[in-house]
Amino acid sequence: MKNFSSSITQMDSTVATLISAEKKRQYDCLEMIPSESFPSKAVLEALGSVLNNKYSEGYPKKRYYGGNEFIDQVEQLAIDRAKQLFGAEHVNVQPYSGSPANMAIYFALLDFGDKVMGMSLSHGGHLTHGHSVNFSGKAYNFVQYGLDKETEQLDIDTIRKMAVAEQPKMIISGYTAYPRTIDFKEFAAIAAEVGAYSMVDMSHIAGLIAGDAHPSPFPFTDVVMTTTHKTLCGPRGAMILSRKEDPLREKYHPESTLTLAQRIDKAVFPGLQGGPHEHAIAAKAVAFGEALKPDFKVFAQQIVKNAKVLADSLMEQGLRLVSGGTDNHLLLVDLTKIGVTGQQAETALDKAGITVNKNTIPFDPRGPFDPSGIRLGTPALTCRGMKEQEMKDIGLWIAEVVKNHGNEEKLLRVHENVLDLTKQYKMYD
Ligand SMILES: *Cc1c(COP(=O)(O)O)cnc(C)c1O
Repeated sequence: MKNFSSSITQMDSTVATLISAEKKRQYDCLEMIPSESFPSKAVLEALGSVLNNKYSEGYPKKRYYGGNEFIDQVEQLAIDRAKQLFGAEHVNVQPYSGSPANMAIYFALLDFGDKVMGMSLSHGGHLTHGHSVNFSGKAYNFVQYGLDKETEQLDIDTIRKMAVAEQPKMIISGYTAYPRTIDFKEFAAIAAEVGAYSMVDMSHIAGLIAGDAHPSPFPFTDVVMTTTHKTLCGPRGAMILSRKEDPLREKYHPESTLTLAQRIDKAVFPGLQGGPHEHAIAAKAVAFGEALKPDFKVFAQQIVKNAKVLADSLMEQGLRLVSGGTDNHLLLVDLTKIGVTGQQAETALDKAGITVNKNTIPFDPRGPFDPSGIRLGTPALTCRGMKEQEMKDIGLWIAEVVKNHGNEEKLLRVHENVLDLTKQYKMYD
């Protein structure tokens, strides 16, 4: 018989030690990567549960395996809570992560080679929105839009003109490094005008949408993808939310009787995936339950408030923010003016205990491997309970570090401040 009773510390001290070290790193540093957050202990418990052990290919009440009485209830609960949270007609909670979920959407609605419009990676889009190294850019004919050079924001008229000229089958909005509000209604209107599917990838801002801190893409968007581990503060994973009926069935699939919902479900399984990760689906249900509670709105709005205060604090120190500020949880800092590269800033901030990532800025003269900016965000720190005063201080520290990135003594001093601060915000124990 296998050893079922020993803890990981007893069974495998090598891995246990690494987990402890990573836990300490997460506690001690200021986690400011905008795609990260800290889920509740309840979410982590569901992830570490015996639901991991079960095969349940298929969907609730339509499985290819026996023994799914309780699994069906878990998955149905996740679906029902997601529907309630966002007001969607149909939800599939099985996607393993954001990238395969986007793949499933394309597989459901497009034929290989079809034309799709998405934002380029260098302006804030995601790899899976048509980048040439990604499956999306190889399997489909992506035409890519960017931001306006003056405002560094979306220019909806330029995007409309491109859609009219290109006649894509699908138009994607929703990004990974865009600090401003997205007008999803306008995108849906453009898609309707040119007879394209409207798709929103709300991975970064799903928690803000759930907490009424960003306008929602529902009910007018055809299909919406979100990861569940970013501002939604759930387990690593994703889901697809969509209309039930296919508004473009006659135009694009005249010989088919499938609804949009059926197309999505078939594309996820058996199209792309095998057995669903029911432990992750249980953790999604727990996270959606948390997001349905009234205090999640307070949390989501605090994320945005914190980002605004951080933005002001950085700008007061003379740093330039792309687009001049933020409406959401993230900020892009252009370091050109102070003569520091994104890589230098990332490395120096790391030494001071502040975790961010280097990032291209729109129209970046330096290129993607050594870009001109850094991207930072407030979700993880807001999870820990930090508010405006902390953001103000952190803004000062970040400015101090990037301006003195070669001065080890100054970095050390900021690091001490960081440790003093993080000590006051306990997690998981
Ligand atoms: C994070 C993200 C994804 C991909 O999610 P993974 O879980 O990392 O595969 C897709 N789209 C957008 C906009 C994202 O921000």
